[in-house]
Amino acid sequence: MSGNNYKFANNSVLKTYNRAPIWFTKGRGSWLESVDGDLYLDMGAGIAVNCLGHSNPILIDALNAQSNLLWHTSNLYNIPVQEELALKLTDNTFADKVFFTNSGTESIECAVKMARKYQFDKGLKKKTEILTFHGAFHGRSMSAISASGSSKLMKGFEPALPGFKNISFGDLDAIDREIGDNTCAVLLEPIQGEGGIKELPMELLNKTRATCDKFGALLIFDEVQSGIGRTGKFFAYEFSKIEPDIVAIAKGIGGGFPMGCCLASEKASSGLTAGTHGSTFGGNPLACAIGLAVLKEVLSDGFLKDVIRKGKYLKDFLENLVNENLDILHSVRGKGLMLGLKCNIQNTYLIEEAYKHLLLLVPASENVVRFLPALNIADDELVEATTRLKRVIYEVKKYK
Ligand SMILES: *Cc1c(COP(=O)(O)O)cnc(C)c1O
Repeated sequence: MSGNNYKFANNSVLKTYNRAPIWFTKGRGSWLESVDGDLYLDMGAGIAVNCLGHSNPILIDALNAQSNLLWHTSNLYNIPVQEELALKLTDNTFADKVFFTNSGTESIECAVKMARKYQFDKGLKKKTEILTFHGAFHGRSMSAISASGSSKLMKGFEPALPGFKNISFGDLDAIDREIGDNTCAVLLEPIQGEGGIKELPMELLNKTRATCDKFGALLIFDEVQSGIGRTGKFFAYEFSKIEPDIVAIAKGIGGGFPMGCCLASEKASSGLTAGTHGSTFGGNPLACAIGLAVLKEVLSDGFLKDVIRKGKYLKDFLENLVNENLDILHSVRGKGLMLGLKCNIQNTYLIEEAYKHLLLLVPASENVVRFLPALNIADDELVEATTRLKRVIYEVKKYK
C-alpha cells in the first residue's frame, strides 16, 4: 500500500467515499498497477463496470476511432451510432425501444417516469404506486433512494418522494398482499448487488409476472449490476421463465465509459413521446461506439458460456473455502461472475487483508464480500485469485 507518500492528497474532493489508501496509475486486463508499481489483481472491476478488463485494446480502438470523428452533437440530431447500438440491443433482448442515459440512477429514473406515464396515458391517474423490495439499491437520486426504502440511504434527505412502497424480500406472498389497483409497477433487482448478492427466489420472479398482469402493473427489472453477461446470461432474469416490460442497465454496457440505457417493450415505452423526457449527454457518439464494441464481445460465440464455466469454478472454490473455514465464513451466493461470500467476521476485515495480498474485492450489505471480476478474466488469473484468497484467509485466521 502507498498511503504514506500520496503526493496529490488534498481536501478538495467531497468526502462521500471512505477511500482505501491506494491509487492506481495504469490498468491492463484484470490487473491494476499502483503508483509504487505493485500489481493488484482486480476482482471488483470497478464494481461490475470494466466487464472486458482495463484498457481493453478493442475498446481503446473503438474510443479512438470515434473520438477522431465526432464527440457530441446533442439529441437534436440523428446519431447513427446511437441507432446502431439501439438496434443491436433490441435485436438481442426482449426490448423494442431504448432510451440512453449516463448512469444507473438515470436509467432507473427513466424507468419510473416511463411506467407512470404509461398508466397516466391510459387514463389511470391514481395508478402511481411502485412496489420495491427491502434491501434494494437503485441509485442515489431522490426517487432512487425513496424506491430503496432504506432508512440508511434516506436519512437526512427526507421527505422521501411519495409513491413507493417497500415490501419484504423473498416473501413469496408479499407481492400478492401489497399489490392493488393503484400499483403502477413492480421494480426489482433479480439479484440484489449492493444488498449482498441476494437472489430473488426464481419461484417469486416467475409468479411476479402473472401478478403484475392481473393488476395491469408493469414489471421493471434493475439489471444495472446483474446485466450485460455478469451472471452468464445477458440478463440475470433470463434464468427465469418470464420477461419484464422495462429493464434499466448501466455499469457493464460502457465497459468503463459512463453510459446507461432504459430498455422497454413498445407498449411500456409508449408514453415517453417527444418532449416528455430527455438527456443532453445520453446516447452520445463516444459512449455508443464503446457500447457497441462491448456488446459485440459479450454477445460473441461462447462468451457467456465461458462466464458460466468460470463462475462455476470460482463458486466451487469459494464453497470449499467456506466448508474449510466455517468459523469465519458463512456461505456463498450468486450466479456466474456475480458472487458473494458471506462472512462471520467483519467483511471489511477480509477486504483490508486482501489489499495486503494485492487482491481487490468489494464489500456489500449483510457482511458480504463481492467477486465481480472482468468477464474475460483468464483462467490462470482466476487461479491466482484463489491462491491469494487462501493466503488472505490464513492471515485473517492467524489474528482472529
Ligand atoms: C450501481 C447501481 C445503480 C446506480 O448506478 P449509478 O451508475 O451509480 O447511478 C442502480 N442499481 C443497481 C442495481 C446498481 O448496482
